Amino acid sequence: MSVTQELSDSDCGFEPSVAEGIRSRLADWFLVTGRELPWRENPSPYAVLVSEFMLQQTQVVTVIPYFLRWMEALPQLADLAAAPESTVLHLWQGLGYYSRARNLQRAAQVVMEQFQGRIPSDPALLKTLPGVGAYSAGAIASFAFDRAEAAVDANIARVLSRVANYQLPVDTPKGTRHIWRLANDLLPAAGGGRLHTSALMELGALVCVAKNPRCLECPIQRDCAAVEPGQLPRKGPRRATVKMDEWAAWIVRDSEVLLEQQHGRRAGGMWKLPPLQEAGTGPVLFETVYPFTHHKVTLRIFEAPAPEPLGESQRWFTRDSVIADTALPTAHRKALQVLLNSGKAALS
Ligand code: SF4
Repeated sequence: MSVTQELSDSDCGFEPSVAEGIRSRLADWFLVTGRELPWRENPSPYAVLVSEFMLQQTQVVTVIPYFLRWMEALPQLADLAAAPESTVLHLWQGLGYYSRARNLQRAAQVVMEQFQGRIPSDPALLKTLPGVGAYSAGAIASFAFDRAEAAVDANIARVLSRVANYQLPVDTPKGTRHIWRLANDLLPAAGGGRLHTSALMELGALVCVAKNPRCLECPIQRDCAAVEPGQLPRKGPRRATVKMDEWAAWIVRDSEVLLEQQHGRRAGGMWKLPPLQEAGTGPVLFETVYPFTHHKVTLRIFEAPAPEPLGESQRWFTRDSVIADTALPTAHRKALQVLLNSGKAALS
């Protein structure tokens, strides 16, 4: 047994000598095995900020092409701060959770206004930026500034709960505190956060994976106290999935289609097919199901007449440019692609 914390309820962390061993074996492994990722090649504070916002709730392979497009279109923090919101949302289109895109732009604006355009390195200051919580602050401080700061995301929480064989739920205040304590115990004394946090995160992504962890390939197997790693981390009861219906109108004229701009946190600034209060009476033209947090939403599209006059947030878009030039949530973009290609644009 190489860690002091064996059973669930202990407040013990890693002994310094154990932490040192884990750190050095992880670093050696990462230097050989770590993936080359675009934000790792040039970890400028701006590139790290953008990648961390994109990686919240989204996998690395999905993020890479979005990140590359983003950095080409908005290469500097000042470009992002000054960009029209429609450009930002359009670049984000398909990544979902659009409040992240708006928070990222607001964070860039705050940095321009309050920090003379320089992203701060102190996690306490980073946490004052919109959309930056404890994890992101630690990650940005580590990756962009090489500071020895803890950052606990789902991957790292999984690794740490296993290494310490922690048996209590990690998604309770007590469990969260304990995992952060373990993360802090593992930090190098000063600096070196970029390599250390990258290595820990990479171990969670490639070896200590959620299902069937590859313990035989693990560089820290000798340090790991997990008895049944597949059972960890423990989590509290999950929220039940709630089914929801969404109805929208297909309104076209002369190869133009009517869209409505959304307001509010969830999809503010995005354009959608105009919402209906209830299901239409005609046939369903298109149907798709998509997840949103703990909801499973069924979107159904019905043909409808054009409102007279148009609502304040409604606008006609031409068939040829609507998909390429407009920020649309994925489900509505899919609906437009299918219906425009099926000749429904000719309906009136
Ligand atoms: S030995 Fe297995 S459970 Fe422990 S850290 Fe490595 S991969 Fe995870």
